[in-house]
Amino acid sequence: MASNKQTTSKEQLYQSNSKINEKDNFTIGCHSNNIYLDHSATTPVDKAVLKAMTPYFCDTFANASSVHSMGQKANSAVDLARRKVAEILKVKPTEIYFTSGGTECCNWAMMGVVITEKRNKVIVSSIEHAAVLSSAKRLKEQGVEVIYLPVNKDGFIEVSSLEAVIDDRVALVAVMLANNEIGTIQPVKELAAVAKKHGALFFTDAVQAVGSIPVYPTELGVDMLCLSAHKFYGPKGCGVMYIRGGVKHNKLITGGHQERNQRGGTTNVPLIVGLAAALQPAVENLERNAKKIGRLRDYFVKEVFDKVPHVILNGGKNNRLPQNANFTFEFIEGESLLLSLDLSGIACSSGSACSSGSLEPSHVLMAMGIEEEKAHGSIRFTFGKYNTKAEVDLVVAELVVAVQRLRKMSPLWAMYNS
Ligand code: PLP
Repeated sequence: MASNKQTTSKEQLYQSNSKINEKDNFTIGCHSNNIYLDHSATTPVDKAVLKAMTPYFCDTFANASSVHSMGQKANSAVDLARRKVAEILKVKPTEIYFTSGGTECCNWAMMGVVITEKRNKVIVSSIEHAAVLSSAKRLKEQGVEVIYLPVNKDGFIEVSSLEAVIDDRVALVAVMLANNEIGTIQPVKELAAVAKKHGALFFTDAVQAVGSIPVYPTELGVDMLCLSAHKFYGPKGCGVMYIRGGVKHNKLITGGHQERNQRGGTTNVPLIVGLAAALQPAVENLERNAKKIGRLRDYFVKEVFDKVPHVILNGGKNNRLPQNANFTFEFIEGESLLLSLDLSGIACSSGSACSSGSLEPSHVLMAMGIEEEKAHGSIRFTFGKYNTKAEVDLVVAELVVAVQRLRKMSPLWAMYNS
């Protein structure tokens, strides 16, 4: 009886989702049979953004570097996008470089660092995205000294921990603005001030922050900052690297003279237009969306704590992105729960990274001092502007059932109970 009732309400929910999708949301109805709670992985492209991009695929398709008028028309669209992005971020257009996304920007910030005999150290936080950490590893292989900043148990980098390790031999400090797994917002302004005192450059990966909290490079006092369009309802494969005017930094991608000779490669006009078209509403509607999303997330967290026993919320409650809820469901594997929810049409993400056949626990949770066993049980839910309370209720109901079922099969749960 109970399961029949739930199936009906699920169908009703999916039908109403389809209607929303047709009206003003997704072009491919990606939500129609699913509840999508993985917005930190990526967001759907808004219809208005797709519309803005479309002419630049088949009509205004010419190479933006070509001197003919068709090329110049494409170039004007890129110029306009650059000016728009600069205005939104309150920086100069000459400080904006378009890239292929967050990964390239993080690689560029790290690998482009000018290493001298006097400045041969780099500091990175231990909870950075792999795009930064993998570059740090490469720098180390090249003989650069790399120092990893620890985080406290709530997932925050403390300013005192940077002060303890920085000196005048540090060339670059990299600390992300908001963490992708637990959503903690780092004290970047204070950290950047410490770096400046020692003459080191400061890079912040703001990929998760843009569209969720206000992000202005000059207010933060950073030298470099990056963002990625697909995290704020824009297209995948396009990002922005802000490099403060006057900063000495090497290129990453060499080739043609695009991006004022700082990044080779034929200019990706449609995606750049799409990025600018997505950034504007993301920033203009930030307060309203963040409030709505935050309320939904808080309701979800409360419901989970009320209805599922032995749950831990990973990461501090305050100074956290409004969309993020990262839980450890004790005594079960996050991957099993993820797959179980997927079978019920719910998309979320686990903290573990599947690498070379073995499931590694999240480096972020491990850095916070969370036991390996608990890190394995973590799941990330990230909300977006189209999620509803009805969806949250359904997800909680599914979670209760799935967690109960998986615990019944868990030797850890059996051990705990005996
Ligand atoms: N940095 C952070 C914090 C991210 O979350 C991501 C993507 O998940 C990236 C960098 C990489 O961005 P992109 O997918 O645009 O390469």
